[in-house]
Amino acid sequence: MTETILILGGTKEAATLAAELVRDHPDWRVVTSLAGRTREPKPVAGEVRIGGFGGAEGLADYMRAQQVTRLIDATHPFATAISQNAKRAAQQAGVRLETRMRPPWRREPDDNWIEVASLEEARDAIPAGACALLALGRQHIAPFTDRADVHFIVRMVDPPETPLAVPDHDLVIGLPGAAAGEEAALLTKHRVTHIVCRNSGGSGAYAKIEAARALGLPVIMVNRQET
Ligand code: NAP
Repeated sequence: MTETILILGGTKEAATLAAELVRDHPDWRVVTSLAGRTREPKPVAGEVRIGGFGGAEGLADYMRAQQVTRLIDATHPFATAISQNAKRAAQQAGVRLETRMRPPWRREPDDNWIEVASLEEARDAIPAGACALLALGRQHIAPFTDRADVHFIVRMVDPPETPLAVPDHDLVIGLPGAAAGEEAALLTKHRVTHIVCRNSGGSGAYAKIEAARALGLPVIMVNRQET
């Protein structure tokens, strides 16, 4: 049977899945949906559509109009709004939903993690005078603006369009380093004392965790919330 697959993407895993489906099922229509947050997204196999749907109803309408037969939620574990929309839309449109969620990272014996439940708790866990790497993405920086007693290293994929509100910071533009050595060099160069990140799981952003372990640095880890 010919299928029309809609992958909710924006992750490395979603792109890998699209490539596999296109390769293994040349007669299927494989569409990957991106939110449009990244200015120059990496190429994805099959079709790509970009931008929000307009809530669960909009997603359900899109699936009906495009005669989608399977919906695969392969979004980032912290992209909770779209995952909730996917559940509701799949029910509304009567489309089968599969969820491909990366497992979270597990703490290793040599890890020094301070586990917190929110970005606000992460902010409060940074000691005064620290130099903290915010490995969070630009839309998650706002909670840290009132920590004038901390020097921040803010890493983001694209340069910010407006100046960042965090008072004392240096910007590092680019993707996370792929190797622990590369991340360790960055941490050492900027004299980072703490890393703030979310427990995203997956391999793409894990090198900083390995680097922190090697350097004995604390990681303020924002855990996932149940959705
Ligand atoms: P979110 O908070 O769950 O979603 C907010 C809104 O953005 C959704 O209601 C939806 O708008 C739109 N949206 C999100 N993902 C979409 C997709 N794949 N295709 C079309 N519209 C989408 O999502 P987010 O945390 O901003 O993440 C946005 C995208 O970036 C996701 O695709 C995610 O996989 C990727 N990403 C996120 C993170 C992260 O840290 N959150 C990290 C890496 C990659 P409408 O309601 O209008 O449909």
